[in-house]
Amino acid sequence: MTIIVTGGAGFLGSHLCEKLLENGEEVICIDNLITGSEDNVSHLKNNPNFKFIEADASWGLPEGILNQRPKGGRVVQDDIRQIYHMASPASPNKNNPKSYIALPFETMKVNTMGTMKLCENAVKLGAKFLFASTSEVYGDPEESPQKETYNGNASTIGPRSVYDESKRFGETITSAFVRSKELDGRIVRIFNTYGPRMSDDGRVVIEFIEAAQKGNPIPVFGDGSQTRSFMFVSDLVDGLILAMDRGDKGEVYNLGNPTEFTIMELAAKVKEITNSQSEIKEVEDLPEDDPKQRCPDITKAKNELGWEPKVELDEGLKLLIKAL
Ligand code: NAD
Ligand code: UDP
Repeated sequence: MTIIVTGGAGFLGSHLCEKLLENGEEVICIDNLITGSEDNVSHLKNNPNFKFIEADASWGLPEGILNQRPKGGRVVQDDIRQIYHMASPASPNKNNPKSYIALPFETMKVNTMGTMKLCENAVKLGAKFLFASTSEVYGDPEESPQKETYNGNASTIGPRSVYDESKRFGETITSAFVRSKELDGRIVRIFNTYGPRMSDDGRVVIEFIEAAQKGNPIPVFGDGSQTRSFMFVSDLVDGLILAMDRGDKGEVYNLGNPTEFTIMELAAKVKEITNSQSEIKEVEDLPEDDPKQRCPDITKAKNELGWEPKVELDEGLKLLIKAL
């Protein structure tokens, strides 16, 4: 079958394309390279089952995509069986030009208008649809761990709102298509994921490793007591494919590693694993809207998808550092 991955030239999307190809599928990657890079998929380009199309997913599938299937021959619309909508800037770091704070309108468009158009495409093609949402829909959560049933505590106007609220609305759009247009759609809420091919878009794991390796201060925002739960990319990719293949229509699944760390603990771990002499330094206040706690409840994904993460932080950090 043919599978579309929007955002396929990004960090997560490129790993997903790779795994789907390994599973014997044909993959069409659609990416406008706003935060991603063709380098992330250059190793896939000689695979006859892989096709890269540079296009903006905010407008849905590009015109004529059915004529651009990886293998030649007659175009059969029914061949496109699945659409993973992964396209969106994903970093909250206001100091970085690739962050969603620097790209507010692009972020809102791809998660709302793009989701609407892609849902329409999926209904027309009779394809399954998966929307890559985020733990950010929980905002600064008042309960922990976060279950899928928790409605969150997100600001509609703060600096993160362009991302949080457009992901929340993307979920609403997906759900409405399931309810009213017979879309076979599901939603995954991805918690902090790290691994090879993560870009320098300002997210914490790469920032800390780069600083530690250069001997620069490891830059902690706030006092470092805020928590995150870090998942290695191979675990996420397994979860995405299971959610698409086994997940029920209209359902939402948390995908994350439930082992929770403070950002200060992460800094210490990175320093130790890189054998660095860097000092750990509180460089600026905690940014506005920065969630103080984040930890997934993954009971639903465990029970309904048969999924749970396998790679713990020490091992994952070592794999990432080796790949840099
Ligand atoms: P990334 O920036 O590496 O990848 C996103 C990709 O989408 C990039 O290649 C970018 O060029 C592309 N893109 C953005 N807007 C586009 C558009 N309009 N049309 C076509 N392509 C477009 O980020 P990532 O970490 O790989 O994130 C992938 C998805 O997963 C995003 O939707 C993000 O919100 C979600 N997510 C990621 C994490 C994480 O920890 N990595 C956590 C929660 C959610
Ligand atoms: N952070 C930090 N130093 C950095 C980048 C991020 O201390 O150089 C903190 C950030 O304030 C947040 C956490 O690390 O509390 C995770 O940030 P990230 O940008 O990776 O993503 P988030 O989980 O906030 O979306």
